Amino acid sequence: MNNRIEQKLQHIQSDAIKGSRVELQLLTTLKCNLKCSYCSLGVGDVLGSQLQVGYDLDQLECFVDTHFSGKEIYVTFYGGEPTLNVRFISAVMQRFPLFRFQLQTNGTLLDSLPNEILGRLSNILISIDGGEAITDSYRGRGIYRQVLKNMRYVRDRVSGSMTARMTWNDANTSFTEIDELTKNFDYVYFQLVADEKYAGDAVHKRQEVLAQLIARFFAQSDMVYPVIPLMGIVRNKLFPNRAREMYAGLTQCRASTHLINVMPDGKVFPCPDMMYLPTMQQGDIGENWLHRSSLQSHPDMPCDVCEALPWCRRNCMKNLYRAYVQKDDVYRLNVVEPICDLIRFMGMEIDRHAPREWFARLSPPLRRQITDCEIYEYVEVMP
Ligand code: SF4
Ligand code: SF4
Repeated sequence: MNNRIEQKLQHIQSDAIKGSRVELQLLTTLKCNLKCSYCSLGVGDVLGSQLQVGYDLDQLECFVDTHFSGKEIYVTFYGGEPTLNVRFISAVMQRFPLFRFQLQTNGTLLDSLPNEILGRLSNILISIDGGEAITDSYRGRGIYRQVLKNMRYVRDRVSGSMTARMTWNDANTSFTEIDELTKNFDYVYFQLVADEKYAGDAVHKRQEVLAQLIARFFAQSDMVYPVIPLMGIVRNKLFPNRAREMYAGLTQCRASTHLINVMPDGKVFPCPDMMYLPTMQQGDIGENWLHRSSLQSHPDMPCDVCEALPWCRRNCMKNLYRAYVQKDDVYRLNVVEPICDLIRFMGMEIDRHAPREWFARLSPPLRRQITDCEIYEYVEVMP
């Protein structure tokens, strides 16, 4: 390659991706075998709109070589339900053996995955909504039991971790239900639902459960209670530079720096929940171009003067964008502000349990769980 082309290429690369990692979320299909009532792909009729991958692996390789050269790449197979396109998953794994792989799935078809795929996954994120009654009410009768049965069935063939990705939809989700998930999964990652589910006493009910989870987290120093948002907040409070260095001082959800969502047709977006918005497109696999994410911090966002910024790190750019850039006041009042209040509540509650003293009691391997947990690289870390 001559020097001028190389310089131009480096310019394109440094402009588009910040840091040395890329998280490549490949949507294998937009089809799903469930009909979850709150699915974010339902916005803008994205769900079901593209059934097959429209680019080939030569094009993907060319895109990766052009824009991600020398970077560490984590692929997450995403959908729709990604396991409906096993052939694509298998082909990507064979073509890019140095990549790290994760699967985001509803878990209903886990038992049908071949061993070559199960054995290559560093982490499996399994969507769940809390306990059995709540999960089944959103996902369909019998789904909770089916997912746990499938997990047990594949457990011995999975070499990575299995993480519950719990969307906290229902204000009645109890501590016991979440605690039960910590026994069945290696990690629990809960996410406060980005929907109008915070009216009445819904915030207060969630605060009560959060207080119980946080008390449970600090009750022992001979183990780490494997709830990612609590681990992540403690890490950020004790070692704020960790969060800054991994995300170039920008949002911890990586949508501003290195989270690349590829639709089956090859169009690239920074956030999987905003693929209905053409102005958010930042690249295209087939046309081999990639720009910097448009989901960046904006002066109208309140984070710079928020006490939680050092450890929250702008938890969801989509929420902030809708509320403060698009000026959707209903969404701000009914979704974003209650979530921010809950995040600040978590911070205060964690401080009440003397996290420094607790961390000082941990053994070196347990300290590493807090500072360097691999799952932080695959999920948004903050709820
Ligand atoms: S709590 Fe809300 S306002 Fe504060 S830093 Fe987090 S996202 Fe920004
Ligand atoms: S945290 Fe929000 S902005 Fe970031 S990827 Fe998730 S939905 Fe998108």
